[in-house]
Amino acid sequence: MTTPLIDFDTALNRVLQAVRPTPQVEEVPLEGAYGRFLAQDANARENIPIADNSAMDGFAVRYEDVAPKEGQGGVEGGLPCLRVVEVLGARSVAGRPLVAGEAMKIMTGAPIPPGADTVVMVEHTRSQPGPDGAPQVVITLPPRPGEHIRPAGGDYLAGQPALHRGDLLGPAQVGILASLGYPRVKVVRRPLVGVLATGDELAEPGEPLTPGRVRNANSYTLTGLIHQAGAEPRNLGMAPDNRESLRHILARGLAQHDVLITSGGVSMGDYDFVKPLADELGLEVGFKALNVRPGKPVVFASREGKLFFGLPGNPVSAMVAFLQLVRPALLKMMGHPHLGLRRLRVPLEDGFSKKDGKRHFLRGVVYLTAEPSPLGGPPSGSLGVRLTGHQGSGLLHSMERANCLVIIPEESRQIPPGHPVEVQLFEGPPLALEPSG
Ligand code: AMP
Ligand code: MG
Repeated sequence: MTTPLIDFDTALNRVLQAVRPTPQVEEVPLEGAYGRFLAQDANARENIPIADNSAMDGFAVRYEDVAPKEGQGGVEGGLPCLRVVEVLGARSVAGRPLVAGEAMKIMTGAPIPPGADTVVMVEHTRSQPGPDGAPQVVITLPPRPGEHIRPAGGDYLAGQPALHRGDLLGPAQVGILASLGYPRVKVVRRPLVGVLATGDELAEPGEPLTPGRVRNANSYTLTGLIHQAGAEPRNLGMAPDNRESLRHILARGLAQHDVLITSGGVSMGDYDFVKPLADELGLEVGFKALNVRPGKPVVFASREGKLFFGLPGNPVSAMVAFLQLVRPALLKMMGHPHLGLRRLRVPLEDGFSKKDGKRHFLRGVVYLTAEPSPLGGPPSGSLGVRLTGHQGSGLLHSMERANCLVIIPEESRQIPPGHPVEVQLFEGPPLALEPSG
């Protein structure tokens, strides 16, 4: 009996329809917030920065004291010279306002003294003792009015929303939370995702490889992908191709996790039990095979927000199916607004042809070329994508060398070299490697 092939967009919709955004929230210290998803909006409670302050080490002055004077004839008529009445370290607040003829030496970050409206960088000054021995500063290059002052609220104004519920906390976002004065922050509980590799032939990496055996790579690629998506993986190890024991392991796995992922056992082989078992788990089966390549045999079933994905055994297929279906589901559970990988349209260097009407996800490298400009001057860069060699779904090296997936639509048969295609860029470095709690 052949399983009907579901078109990819329909399949993704079914998955996303089955997702219930996680209502549980955890409050974590900021140190533990990286890689998590915000469960609250974060607003600026005061102006950031709190006061007008200096962007440079230099001298706070009144612009009118140092502006080039008419009839002065540039520098010949003498450079402006001011009395230095205070030195302001990064934390100092001036003891009194600045008045005509005065400057205050100021360090980067120190509040601008009242009366001053411009900072002259130290490189454009010369310090000297005055006739009475008191310090003076000569302005050797006139500033522009208002120069080198960072205004209060220039980053965030008091009351301004800075980050939103569902935002992923990357390095810049945790820096913003620190700046806004959040020592702790509410984040979404990470979905717990069980990963089970099925197959009698599987050996763990420490076991010897003998003919007929295959080392279990999928438990490791999948737990990595789960980390990268910001959820919490739990490696459930390997299960044999035994219908009864698999039934029990799957039932327990579903009870104990928000999402259960298996690999292998979804094809047409005599020992592929995941597909038939999906009907016996008391879940609603969304689909059992997709009109895609790689990753055709994929089972999806769900019940009340609990999700089950039976991914293919071939390591590339399992990774591709994860990125296309499981990752968006996890992101939706965590309330993130952007569920897909970043997309670009770039010319496909190699060209490609296929005979089937499936959507293909090829492994590619997006690159930037620097082409010399015919008019001289700096080279102009342009993006391209090339495939990472053999595209066999068992060849992990095609994935390892890739930084993107190249999407070949169902209806395409022949893509001429240089023709633009859509690519989905892989994510950057892994996120959230610490277990929660
Ligand atoms: P299956 O869908 O179970 O027939 O598996 C398809 C192919 O993927 C077979 O060649 C399996 O040996 C291989 N495979 C299955 N599970 C894994 C795994 N965890 N790691 C690496 N390869 C696997
Ligand atoms: Mg198998």
